[in-house]
Amino acid sequence: MAVEVVKCPCGKQKLGVQAYVQVGSRIVCAHRDCNEMLRVTQRNPLRLEIVARDEQRTSDSSPESYG
Ligand SMILES: [Zn+2]
Repeated sequence: MAVEVVKCPCGKQKLGVQAYVQVGSRIVCAHRDCNEMLRVTQRNPLRLEIVARDEQRTSDSSPESYG
């Protein structure tokens, strides 16, 4: 299967993104000093943007409870 290699916005890690990964999908940088969640914003050429931490929290499937 085709893999497109793209650099993480952190500049430390090259990421191999499978061809089936679509715009809007999220991947996580594998670099130990980065670990950012990234969203695919464009294909051909592939582009990534860092997902803000706030957005990661609100998009979590398990809602926080303040009991
Ligand atoms: Zn990174």
